[in-house]
Amino acid sequence: MDRSPDVVIVGAGIVGAAAAHVLTAEGLAVDVVDRGAPASGVTGAGMGHIVVMDDSPAQLQLTAYSRRLLDELAPELSASCELSRCGTLWIASGEAELEAVEAKQGAYAEAGIASEVLDGDDVARLEPELRRPLFGALRVPGDTVVYPPGLARWFLDRAVERGARLHLGTEIDSLGPREVRAGTTTISAGAVVNAAGPWSGRLSPGLPVTPRKGHLLITGRYSGFCRHQLVELGYLASAHDLSQDSVAFNLQPRPTGQIIIGSSRQAAGWDGAIDRSVLQKMVARAVEFVPGLAGLDVVRTWTGFRPATPDKLPLIGPWPDEDGPWILSGHEGLGIATALGTAQILADLMLERRPELDPAPFRAARA
Ligand SMILES: Cc1cc2nc3c(=O)[nH]c(=O)nc-3n(C[C@H](O)[C@H](O)[C@H](O)COP(=O)(O)OP(=O)(O)OC[C@H]3O[C@@H](n4cnc5c(N)ncnc54)[C@H](O)[C@@H]3O)c2cc1C
Repeated sequence: MDRSPDVVIVGAGIVGAAAAHVLTAEGLAVDVVDRGAPASGVTGAGMGHIVVMDDSPAQLQLTAYSRRLLDELAPELSASCELSRCGTLWIASGEAELEAVEAKQGAYAEAGIASEVLDGDDVARLEPELRRPLFGALRVPGDTVVYPPGLARWFLDRAVERGARLHLGTEIDSLGPREVRAGTTTISAGAVVNAAGPWSGRLSPGLPVTPRKGHLLITGRYSGFCRHQLVELGYLASAHDLSQDSVAFNLQPRPTGQIIIGSSRQAAGWDGAIDRSVLQKMVARAVEFVPGLAGLDVVRTWTGFRPATPDKLPLIGPWPDEDGPWILSGHEGLGIATALGTAQILADLMLERRPELDPAPFRAARA
C-alpha cells in the first residue's frame, strides 16, 4: 500500500459500493476490500425492487430519500443496471384490506410520494393474470427495479474512475477504528467502514445484525406476463414479524421477460440450503394471486441472507461509540432500495455536515 486512504470500506456489496461512489465524489481517497467479487454477498441474491416502504416513519423517509437520489442518477446509469420504471402494485386480497390501501396512500401522500388507489376493474385491466375477484390496489408509479449486481458494479466503476482502489479476493480478519487486517497485511486509513452485510457482526462482535434467510425463484422468458412489481398488501406484516417464518406474494418482471417469484423470511442461522417446504409455500402463495404462474418453467431457485436488525432499521454511524469503526449494515430486505440514502448520510456525517434526513433513528450506537 503506497498511500493510506481516507476511508477503507470492507464489503463490495451494494451498500459498500454506494458508499465508495458517494465518498469519492466528495473527493475522499477510498479503498474497498472484499473477500470475493463485487456483489458476491446478498446483493447478488436480492430482487432489486427500489420501493418506498412504510413500516415506520424512519423507513418511509429513508426509502423515499434513496429512491429520489437514484432517480437523480438514472440518466447516468448504464444499461447493465437494468433500471425499469415498472412501478409497484400493492394488491388487496379482500374487501377488508381496502382500508389499508387508503391508509397506505395517506402515509405516502404525507411523504410526498405519488400513488393512486385502483378498484378491482382497474387492477384487472393493468394486470390480467391476477386471480379474480380483484378488490383493489395501490399503485406507486415511481417505484423502480434494478439489477443489483449491475448497479453495485456501476457504483464501483465510478469510484475507481475517481481513484478508489479495489482489493478483491481479500478476506479481512479483524478491523478497528483506523485499520483493517488481512493475514499479515494491515491497511491503515483515516476511517474504517464495516459494510460486510449479514457478516458485519463477525467483524464487529456484538453488533446486532443477524441473517434472515430468503428464497427466490426465476422463470424462463415470458415477455408481457406482468408489467408491475406485484406485492400483496400483507407483505409488510410478513417482513415486520421477526418471530416466525413467513412467505408473502411478491412478483417481479425482469427486462429479459423472466419473472422473479418471492419471497420468504426465516431465522435459519447460516443454513443456505433450499428448504423445499418453504419454497412450496411461497409458490402456493404466488399461485393464489397469479394462477398462470403454475404453468411457467422455473429455471433457478436460490437463497440469500438479509442482514436484519431488531428494530428493522439499518445501522449508519460509528459503533459501539463515537470512536468506533463506522458501520453500514442491517438493511434487511431494503439494502438495494436504501444504499444511496445510506451512503449520503454516511458522507454527511463523516464530513460533519447536517444530513438531509435526521440520522438519529439510524445511529449505529443505538444498537
Ligand atoms: C430473497 C431476497 C430478496 C431481496 N429483495 C430486495 C429488494 O427487492 N430490494 C432491496 O432493496 N433489497 C432486497 N433484498 C435485500 C438486499 O439484497 C440487501 O439488503 C443488500 O444486498 C445488502 O447489501 P450489503 O452490501 O449490506 O451486503 P452484501 O451484498 O452481502 O455485501 C457484503 C460484502 O461483504 C463481503 N464480506 C463479508 N465479510 C467479509 C470479510 N471478512 N472480508 C472481506 N469481505 C467480506 C462479502 O463478500 C460481501 O460482498 C433482498 C434480499 C433477499 C435475500
